Amino acid sequence: MTANNPKATKLDPQWLANKTFDLYQSHGVPIEISEYLIEKEGLILDVDYLQKLIESHQTLSQSSSTAQFKSGLGSNSPKAIAMHTATHILHQVLRSIFGTQLHQMGSAILEDKARFDINLNSSDLTPETITNIEMQVQAIIDKHLTMTKIETTPDIAKGLDAIGLFGEKYGDKVTIYTLADGQTIYSREFCGGPHIENTNQIGKFQILKKKSIGNNLTRLDFVVSL
Ligand SMILES: [Zn+2]
Repeated sequence: MTANNPKATKLDPQWLANKTFDLYQSHGVPIEISEYLIEKEGLILDVDYLQKLIESHQTLSQSSSTAQFKSGLGSNSPKAIAMHTATHILHQVLRSIFGTQLHQMGSAILEDKARFDINLNSSDLTPETITNIEMQVQAIIDKHLTMTKIETTPDIAKGLDAIGLFGEKYGDKVTIYTLADGQTIYSREFCGGPHIENTNQIGKFQILKKKSIGNNLTRLDFVVSL
């Protein structure tokens, strides 16, 4: 960027990162689309800065759900904790169906339902696939698996095939949560919690709806009973 270009600030790599994040965050425009268009125009996107924006957003979402848990009046309700735990199982089932390039793009635990955003085209989720996902998640819940917590280093956690969050940076110590039955691992993920102790505390899992929130970006609303 040249200093005498009046548009220089607008074409700044960080400005483009902010714009990319804002388009994703407010309008559901997938990050890959903005990246593609920026590259096509011969411009440069500050990828590290974009990652920081995503990361701080995730921290914010996490602290807001933590605040939700602590704010009383059903906020630390077993239902909210059960729904959060179910996101781990759902994540793993989706990856087993669509491949490990699928990952969580966002998640929110609301009063009466949970949201789970993934990098997948909505059209890939046929009614049959959704039924299949529900059945697989339910089958794991019904195994009555104990949730175990391990504190370790990020390298060891990655060696254990724990699923991390896209764009997340980890400190020296991380916590991973595992649902396993003997040698069979049903879910292993980097997470701060809280979680239920055993999946027998979760009743029926149901996907309420899918919604396309952009190209290769789908939001699933789901609920669990206790
Ligand atoms: Zn978790």
